[in-house]
Amino acid sequence: MRFLNTILNIIFPAKCILCDKGKADLCLDCLKDAPAAERESAKWIFPLYDYRYPAIKKSLWLLKYKGRKRLANVFAEIIYDKILEELSELSILENFVEPILIPIPLSSKRYRERGFNQAELICRELIKINDSRHNTNLKLENDILIKPKNTEHQARIKDRRNRLKNIIGSFAVKNSEKIKGRNIILIDDILTTGATLNEAKKTLKQAGARKVIAFTVAH
Ligand SMILES: [Zn+2]
Repeated sequence: MRFLNTILNIIFPAKCILCDKGKADLCLDCLKDAPAAERESAKWIFPLYDYRYPAIKKSLWLLKYKGRKRLANVFAEIIYDKILEELSELSILENFVEPILIPIPLSSKRYRERGFNQAELICRELIKINDSRHNTNLKLENDILIKPKNTEHQARIKDRRNRLKNIIGSFAVKNSEKIKGRNIILIDDILTTGATLNEAKKTLKQAGARKVIAFTVAH
Protein backbone atom coordinates (compact mmCIF):
# COMPACT_ATOMS: atom_id res chain seq x y z
CA MET A 1 0.00 0.00 0.00
CA ARG A 2 2.80 2.39 0.90
CA PHE A 3 4.58 1.44 -2.34
CA LEU A 4 1.43 2.09 -4.34
CA ASN A 5 1.08 5.47 -2.67
CA THR A 6 4.64 6.35 -3.59
CA ILE A 7 3.96 5.49 -7.22
CA LEU A 8 0.73 7.50 -7.17
CA ASN A 9 2.56 10.48 -5.70
CA ILE A 10 5.06 10.34 -8.56
CA ILE A 11 2.35 10.13 -11.23
CA PHE A 12 0.15 12.70 -9.53
CA PRO A 13 2.46 15.08 -7.68
CA ALA A 14 0.80 17.19 -5.03
CA LYS A 15 -0.48 20.47 -6.39
CA CYS A 16 -2.53 23.01 -4.52
CA ILE A 17 -6.24 22.60 -5.27
CA LEU A 18 -6.68 26.36 -5.15
CA CYS A 19 -3.70 28.09 -6.72
CA ASP A 20 -2.46 25.10 -8.74
CA LYS A 21 1.06 25.67 -7.44
CA GLY A 22 3.13 24.46 -4.55
CA LYS A 23 4.02 21.06 -3.25
CA ALA A 24 1.03 20.35 -1.07
CA ASP A 25 -2.56 19.54 -1.99
CA LEU A 26 -3.49 22.71 -0.22
CA CYS A 27 -0.59 25.09 0.14
CA LEU A 28 0.17 27.13 3.20
CA ASP A 29 -0.04 30.33 1.18
CA CYS A 30 -3.68 29.62 0.40
CA LEU A 31 -4.39 28.45 3.94
CA LYS A 32 -2.84 31.40 5.70
CA ASP A 33 -5.69 33.66 4.59
CA ALA A 34 -8.35 31.29 5.88
CA PRO A 35 -10.08 32.87 8.86
CA ALA A 36 -10.15 31.00 12.15
CA ALA A 37 -13.47 29.68 13.37
CA GLU A 38 -15.08 32.44 15.39
CA ARG A 39 -18.66 31.46 15.85
CA GLU A 40 -19.42 30.32 19.35
CA SER A 41 -19.03 26.65 20.17
CA ALA A 42 -18.93 24.59 23.35
CA LYS A 43 -15.76 25.10 25.41
CA TRP A 44 -14.58 21.52 24.93
CA ILE A 45 -14.77 21.76 21.11
CA PHE A 46 -11.87 23.31 19.20
CA PRO A 47 -12.66 24.09 15.55
CA LEU A 48 -9.87 25.47 13.36
CA TYR A 49 -11.34 27.36 10.42
CA ASP A 50 -14.45 29.21 9.44
CA TYR A 51 -16.38 26.84 7.22
CA ARG A 52 -17.91 29.73 5.27
CA TYR A 53 -14.52 30.58 3.76
CA PRO A 54 -14.62 29.15 0.20
CA ALA A 55 -11.17 27.52 0.27
CA ILE A 56 -12.05 25.60 3.41
CA LYS A 57 -15.48 24.57 2.17
CA LYS A 58 -14.04 23.42 -1.14
CA SER A 59 -11.15 21.46 0.31
CA LEU A 60 -13.38 19.64 2.79
CA TRP A 61 -15.78 18.79 -0.01
CA LEU A 62 -12.91 17.43 -2.13
CA LEU A 63 -11.66 15.33 0.77
CA LYS A 64 -15.05 13.91 1.62
CA TYR A 65 -16.80 13.48 -1.68
CA LYS A 66 -14.02 13.47 -4.28
CA GLY A 67 -11.60 11.24 -2.44
CA ARG A 68 -8.75 13.78 -2.29
CA LYS A 69 -7.40 11.87 0.67
CA ARG A 70 -4.06 13.63 0.87
CA LEU A 71 -5.90 16.70 2.11
CA ALA A 72 -6.30 14.78 5.37
CA ASN A 73 -2.58 15.22 5.91
CA VAL A 74 -2.70 18.97 5.37
CA PHE A 75 -5.46 19.35 7.94
CA ALA A 76 -3.83 16.92 10.35
CA GLU A 77 -0.65 19.04 10.43
CA ILE A 78 -2.67 22.02 11.57
CA ILE A 79 -4.91 20.12 13.98
CA TYR A 80 -1.83 18.51 15.48
CA ASP A 81 -0.31 21.85 16.46
CA LYS A 82 -3.61 22.92 17.92
CA ILE A 83 -3.88 19.71 19.95
CA LEU A 84 -0.40 20.22 21.40
CA GLU A 85 -1.22 23.80 22.24
CA GLU A 86 -4.40 22.87 24.09
CA LEU A 87 -2.86 19.83 25.79
CA SER A 88 -0.01 21.86 27.20
CA GLU A 89 -2.60 23.55 29.36
CA LEU A 90 -5.17 20.81 29.83
CA SER A 91 -2.60 18.24 30.89
CA ILE A 92 -1.65 20.43 33.82
CA LEU A 93 -4.97 22.02 34.72
CA GLU A 94 -7.22 19.03 34.19
CA ASN A 95 -4.84 16.09 34.23
CA PHE A 96 -5.80 15.44 30.62
CA VAL A 97 -2.99 12.98 29.86
CA GLU A 98 -2.38 9.97 27.59
CA PRO A 99 -5.34 10.80 25.36
CA ILE A 100 -7.02 8.36 23.00
CA LEU A 101 -7.88 9.65 19.52
CA ILE A 102 -11.31 8.62 18.31
CA PRO A 103 -12.75 9.62 14.92
CA ILE A 104 -16.46 10.30 14.60
CA PRO A 105 -17.56 7.08 12.91
CA LEU A 106 -19.69 6.56 9.84
CA SER A 107 -22.38 3.91 9.70
CA SER A 108 -21.22 0.78 7.87
CA LYS A 109 -23.59 1.62 5.02
CA ARG A 110 -22.10 5.07 4.54
CA TYR A 111 -18.58 3.68 4.94
CA ARG A 112 -19.21 1.23 2.12
CA GLU A 113 -20.58 3.97 -0.11
CA ARG A 114 -17.66 6.32 0.48
CA GLY A 115 -14.92 3.75 0.93
CA PHE A 116 -13.28 5.64 3.77
CA ASN A 117 -14.01 7.79 6.78
CA GLN A 118 -12.47 11.26 6.42
CA ALA A 119 -12.24 11.72 10.21
CA GLU A 120 -10.38 8.44 10.50
CA LEU A 121 -7.96 9.51 7.74
CA ILE A 122 -7.18 12.66 9.69
CA CYS A 123 -6.63 10.58 12.84
CA ARG A 124 -4.21 8.25 11.03
CA GLU A 125 -2.24 11.24 9.79
CA LEU A 126 -2.19 12.69 13.31
CA ILE A 127 -0.67 9.46 14.63
CA LYS A 128 1.94 9.49 11.84
CA ILE A 129 2.92 13.07 12.71
CA ASN A 130 3.01 12.24 16.40
CA ASP A 131 5.17 9.15 15.84
CA SER A 132 7.60 11.12 13.71
CA ARG A 133 7.97 13.79 16.37
CA HIS A 134 7.81 11.52 19.43
CA ASN A 135 5.96 14.21 21.22
CA THR A 136 3.19 12.96 23.36
CA ASN A 137 1.52 9.73 24.26
CA LEU A 138 -1.22 9.57 21.66
CA LYS A 139 -3.10 6.46 20.61
CA LEU A 140 -5.74 5.83 17.94
CA GLU A 141 -8.74 3.62 18.62
CA ASN A 142 -11.09 3.42 15.67
CA ASP A 143 -13.20 0.44 16.69
CA ILE A 144 -14.54 1.74 19.97
CA LEU A 145 -17.08 4.35 18.98
CA ILE A 146 -19.34 2.87 16.33
CA LYS A 147 -22.47 3.99 14.51
CA PRO A 148 -24.81 1.03 14.22
CA LYS A 149 -27.67 3.13 12.90
CA ASN A 150 -27.49 4.77 9.49
CA THR A 151 -28.85 8.28 9.86
CA GLU A 152 -29.79 10.98 7.40
CA HIS A 153 -26.91 13.36 6.56
CA GLN A 154 -26.95 15.99 9.32
CA ALA A 155 -26.13 18.66 6.74
CA ARG A 156 -29.33 17.87 4.82
CA ILE A 157 -31.53 18.49 7.83
CA LYS A 158 -32.20 22.18 8.17
CA ASP A 159 -34.11 22.26 11.42
CA ARG A 160 -32.03 22.08 14.62
CA ARG A 161 -34.52 19.98 16.57
CA ASN A 162 -34.73 17.37 13.85
CA ARG A 163 -30.94 17.21 13.67
CA LEU A 164 -30.93 16.36 17.35
CA LYS A 165 -33.62 13.73 16.90
CA ASN A 166 -31.72 12.27 13.96
CA ILE A 167 -28.51 11.74 15.91
CA ILE A 168 -29.72 10.74 19.38
CA GLY A 169 -29.02 7.10 20.13
CA SER A 170 -27.09 6.62 16.91
CA PHE A 171 -23.68 5.82 18.50
CA ALA A 172 -22.56 2.85 20.57
CA VAL A 173 -19.35 1.79 22.29
CA LYS A 174 -17.50 -1.48 21.75
CA ASN A 175 -14.70 -2.71 24.03
CA SER A 176 -15.55 -0.11 26.64
CA GLU A 177 -12.78 -1.41 28.95
CA LYS A 178 -10.30 0.34 26.65
CA ILE A 179 -11.69 3.77 27.49
CA LYS A 180 -12.61 3.39 31.18
CA GLY A 181 -11.16 6.39 33.01
CA ARG A 182 -9.34 7.56 29.90
CA ASN A 183 -9.18 10.98 28.26
CA ILE A 184 -10.58 11.15 24.75
CA ILE A 185 -9.92 13.43 21.79
CA LEU A 186 -12.71 13.25 19.24
CA ILE A 187 -11.90 14.20 15.64
CA ASP A 188 -14.38 15.29 12.98
CA ASP A 189 -14.16 17.31 9.79
CA ILE A 190 -16.98 19.79 10.29
CA LEU A 191 -18.73 21.12 13.36
CA THR A 192 -22.23 22.31 12.52
CA THR A 193 -24.59 22.51 15.48
CA GLY A 194 -22.52 20.26 17.69
CA ALA A 195 -25.31 17.68 17.92
CA THR A 196 -23.09 14.90 16.58
CA LEU A 197 -20.14 15.68 18.85
CA ASN A 198 -22.43 16.07 21.86
CA GLU A 199 -24.02 12.72 21.25
CA ALA A 200 -20.62 11.06 20.76
CA LYS A 201 -19.34 12.61 23.99
CA LYS A 202 -22.41 11.50 25.90
CA THR A 203 -22.05 7.93 24.62
CA LEU A 204 -18.36 7.79 25.56
CA LYS A 205 -18.95 9.25 29.02
CA GLN A 206 -21.71 6.73 29.69
CA ALA A 207 -19.22 4.01 28.77
CA GLY A 208 -16.78 5.31 31.38
CA ALA A 209 -14.55 7.81 29.57
CA ARG A 210 -13.01 10.41 31.89
CA LYS A 211 -12.87 13.63 29.90
CA VAL A 212 -13.78 14.24 26.26
CA ILE A 213 -12.64 17.10 24.03
CA ALA A 214 -12.96 17.50 20.27
CA PHE A 215 -11.12 19.06 17.35
CA THR A 216 -12.65 19.78 13.97
CA VAL A 217 -11.24 21.27 10.78
CA ALA A 218 -14.03 23.79 10.44
CA HIS A 219 -17.07 25.35 12.01
ZN1 LIG B 1 -2.31 27.30 -2.96
